[in-house]
Amino acid sequence: MGPVYMTLLFFGTLGFFAWSAARRWRQLTVGVPEPRFTLADGELMGRIRDTVVYAFGQLKMPKYRLAGVAHIMIFVGFQVLTIRSLMLAARGYDPYFDFWGILGQESLLGQLYGFAKDTVIAMVLAGVGAFVYLRAVVKSQRMTLSTEGLVILGIIGTMMIADAVYDGAWFVLQSRVTGEPLHLHAEWLGSSLSFLFQGLDESLLTVMAHAGFWVHIALVLIFLNILPFSKHFHIITAIPNVFVRDRTPRGALPNVEDLEGKVERDEPIGISKVTDLSWAQILDLYTCTECGRCSDNCPAYTTDKKLSPKHLTLALRDNLYDAEAALTGEEPFEWANANPPIGEKEEIHTFPKPPADAYFRAEQGIELIPGIINPDVIWGCTTCGACEEQCPVMISYVDKIVGMRRDQVMMQGEMPAELQRPFMGMETNGNPWNQSAMDRGNWADGEEIPLIADHPDAAVLYWVGCAASYDMRAQKTAKSMAKLLKKAEVDFAILGSEETCTGDPARRAGNEYLFQMLAEQNVETMNGYGVGKKTIVTTCPHCFNTLANEYPDFGGKFDVVHHTEFLNGLIARGKLVPEKSVQAKVAFHDSCYLGRYNNVYESPREVLSSIPGVELVEVENANRSKGLCCGAGGAQMWMEEQNENRVNKKRTLQLLDTGADTVASGCPFCMTMLTDGLKAYEKEEEIAQLDVVELLSQSVL
Ligand code: SF4
Ligand code: SF4
Repeated sequence: MGPVYMTLLFFGTLGFFAWSAARRWRQLTVGVPEPRFTLADGELMGRIRDTVVYAFGQLKMPKYRLAGVAHIMIFVGFQVLTIRSLMLAARGYDPYFDFWGILGQESLLGQLYGFAKDTVIAMVLAGVGAFVYLRAVVKSQRMTLSTEGLVILGIIGTMMIADAVYDGAWFVLQSRVTGEPLHLHAEWLGSSLSFLFQGLDESLLTVMAHAGFWVHIALVLIFLNILPFSKHFHIITAIPNVFVRDRTPRGALPNVEDLEGKVERDEPIGISKVTDLSWAQILDLYTCTECGRCSDNCPAYTTDKKLSPKHLTLALRDNLYDAEAALTGEEPFEWANANPPIGEKEEIHTFPKPPADAYFRAEQGIELIPGIINPDVIWGCTTCGACEEQCPVMISYVDKIVGMRRDQVMMQGEMPAELQRPFMGMETNGNPWNQSAMDRGNWADGEEIPLIADHPDAAVLYWVGCAASYDMRAQKTAKSMAKLLKKAEVDFAILGSEETCTGDPARRAGNEYLFQMLAEQNVETMNGYGVGKKTIVTTCPHCFNTLANEYPDFGGKFDVVHHTEFLNGLIARGKLVPEKSVQAKVAFHDSCYLGRYNNVYESPREVLSSIPGVELVEVENANRSKGLCCGAGGAQMWMEEQNENRVNKKRTLQLLDTGADTVASGCPFCMTMLTDGLKAYEKEEEIAQLDVVELLSQSVL
């Protein structure tokens, strides 16, 4: 088809692509090192499995049906058509190239491939049509409705049509050369077109074959060169990004090693600039498809806060690209002098939300907050993990947001003023309510619950947590739990005043120093009692998550279960028998730290279902992994919400819509937020708000 032209095309386009890719590689290396490859404990197999399931299997895609199916069709098409593009590239040198007969029309494999190729061409065209519909007709607000998206769809569609036209014209030309009649064969699309083209004269057919060929091959190479400069870069980076995803327990935030040493040496802690991101976090930025699923499910974004995870990712990515020369050392610059105040910057990403004063652009590598990102953005996050649950390419957010909070709190001394009190409370009294540490076990007075100091051989440590120790409403949960444990003859004890806050709110609010202090204290206490050989039961999912997933970094390797799992086990073993009927229509609210972070969805439901008289109902399309946060996580419990559109009210409304007369939860913070939500709708008399353990005790005790 033209070896000279093909060679020139290759040199030009692949040379430019190599230059662009090298730039992106250099930008990746401005990030800090982060080990993502250890070969311990089946790590490699786990990564391969994740890649097969999430990248090649597109597991998360169907969560949005039309867009998901359309994407799968295009993705599968691209895999199959890569071979076709290679074959056409080689036909630039040998017009009959068919991989040495392996994919020739006479071979079975060639026929199978031909059929698959034409089928995926049709699938890709259908997928392109669906995306054009979503972008141009539906104007799906979660997507970035840029012209670029439509241009890319146009390129993909044209590539497909060009391929089919090339085949159709080529088949007619071949039949005229060989004298064999046209017939329908495995390449059904091209051979169907050949019947349409059979009356055309030879010169026109030759033009069509050449045009189809060159348009296809040129667009493939042009498309390749657009990728590094567009959101479609994910076509290259998504599979590696899934492969290197963070495989530490989902509920564990990245640990800051040698924190005391860093503080003493005055070394930076947290994420202040885009260069403080790790290379893997920068790869996240390259990989964002701008699909908006994260923001569409974000409790902050959907209640009109400044935080939108998608736009946060884009703001970081833009800063990385905009400040390329400075970041890669091509231009000298001073970090400290490069931070214009809010208001003097170009506003970006305002369609359709978030507010115009949330994200900004600057052509320098400046401090992210407030240079690129309004502080309200990071302080609006509940760390609920809904964004990460939805992201089809496994982009992480909570680590970045908490990283920025760490910088703000520990390096800049900047934070919402309301956090001062819980920080002080945790530091001086071991609880964010700042009540006396000595009163921690008062809730158990008269309940005849042994302290571990008096009963060190107890098989189970009931970890009560700050809420159930100090909050009068949550104390009822603790009392119900203790009564059920006794009824089941569980050999348990509590730490009493030796227990202190796990540090979850401190860590998620960015006060890593305070968290580590509390973690070390608790680990020392529990290891002193040999808790590593016992089972810890918690009534708080935040305590559960921190003890199970974060304390191992501090020498605390414990067997931790949430009370709903423990109670479910007692019921299964016949130790607890729910006998009395409890007439209630119950909607269960999934706590983020129980469900999304620790995959405990069924135990609370099984406990509730075991109670005679209970009718369990679900929030439609917002239960289990899609459940909406109550609004308390990530230390939001102690912060003022940024606007009147409350997360807890939104969630309460969803629960009320089920028609339930009882809202059940398994978290003291969710309970507080939902109780407030019910009060806001003046439903607190009508609708009961109970922990799962309270409902069970009504049936058992
Ligand atoms: S963790 Fe939750 S609140 Fe934070 S950005 Fe993600 S979805 Fe939004
Ligand atoms: S971060 Fe993930 S979910 Fe959010 S827009 Fe990007 S690809 Fe979509």
